[in-house]
Amino acid sequence: MDNNNLYKWLYIPPNVYVQEGEKATFLLYDTQTGEFMISTDIELCNVVKEVYIPENLGVIKYEQENIKTNDFKKAVEKSLIKTMPIKNEKIKPVNFLPILNLQNDFSKYDNSDEAPHLRKNVTRFLSGLNIYLSYSKDFSISEEKDFRNIVSKQVLLPPLGDSEQYIELNEINTVLLQVAHSSVKKIDIIPGNTYFKKVNQRDFINLLSIFDFEYHIHLHINDFLVLIQDFNQTTQNFLFTIYIDKFSSEENINKITSLNFENIFQIQCLITCEEEFVFFQKIPVIYQNKDKINFFPVWTNKNIDFFEKNILLSIEDLSKNPVSMHEIFRNRKLNANFFGILSVLPDKSVYAHGGKIILGNIINTPLAELVYKELKLNTSWRKTRDLTPCKKCFFCYLCPPVSIYETIFNKYKSCNMENAYSFE
Ligand code: SF4
Repeated sequence: MDNNNLYKWLYIPPNVYVQEGEKATFLLYDTQTGEFMISTDIELCNVVKEVYIPENLGVIKYEQENIKTNDFKKAVEKSLIKTMPIKNEKIKPVNFLPILNLQNDFSKYDNSDEAPHLRKNVTRFLSGLNIYLSYSKDFSISEEKDFRNIVSKQVLLPPLGDSEQYIELNEINTVLLQVAHSSVKKIDIIPGNTYFKKVNQRDFINLLSIFDFEYHIHLHINDFLVLIQDFNQTTQNFLFTIYIDKFSSEENINKITSLNFENIFQIQCLITCEEEFVFFQKIPVIYQNKDKINFFPVWTNKNIDFFEKNILLSIEDLSKNPVSMHEIFRNRKLNANFFGILSVLPDKSVYAHGGKIILGNIINTPLAELVYKELKLNTSWRKTRDLTPCKKCFFCYLCPPVSIYETIFNKYKSCNMENAYSFE
């Protein structure tokens, strides 16, 4: 038989992601269809390794008859491995395998004291800023207090506290002047329910209007109803996200119908169980404005059943919603939920969004220094799954980045799979 009929060119399509585990175990994942397989087939594993040897340029010559193990055949059937006839042995095809672009390899910031040039222009990495203006107080019932306390860690609602501290207008001015030299276009502002008792609302609006940012103001519905009049008269630079929860009265919820919806970016219904979801859906004003409503699941530490059923990932989710190669490579380098965002608290302390360690004080530390410190310390921006117990799972870089739920409650797993897919 002609030698060229015995052999074929064998390659791994560029849309297939390969993750090697331990003891010759590996994952093949089609980033276009979500189709995947995990195999321990030695023959298949050796072939995958050979394809990835740089000199082979992503293609090897392979004897057709050697494709005989079940996993090998399955990989070919699923198009995770492909073959093509050899027309001319001297003209070997080239297959550009996906490789990680190291341009944004932030690991160079680890222990970066030796490289002062890395401090330059770091504010370009800043893409968002959350400013918490004051704390919120005076909740009548403790159940509501506890709920708000847990919610304020998960969404942009003010933290609770008895402290009188707040951010003064000249301090906001100093911060915004620095942010003007970054990549930030939108600033999230979170006023506590006492802020405008201390700071004149009109002066506040006038100050913010000087800068060319878009402002998202985050308010609980009770506070929003008090504040809306003044803000409504201002420019379109101010957009609102309003939070509604199980403690919001129906009377207050109904009042939002009388408001000018042009300024409202979104209404977030905070839900902790399915019954609350059904309850909110039945309120006419919620139903009528459903294009502006987002139902946001709140983790209470007691609603694991709700999360497992509705929120946590299942194996079907992973195959039904393909993850692109770009997302996989991004997940290997940074946390897309947190990267580039800093939070300033009413006591002027600054955290990386999703982080728990104070990076400094906004009044006496330049913004560039705070950004540099986060790049160096990595309190959250580069919190990738391989830094959590998920590192033992094949889906480590396929799963969504570590979420705020996971960091706050120290439960690093966003799936409902008992043993997930450990490659140990
Ligand atoms: S263990 Fe972690 S990486 Fe694996 S599927 Fe679950 S959340 Fe994803």
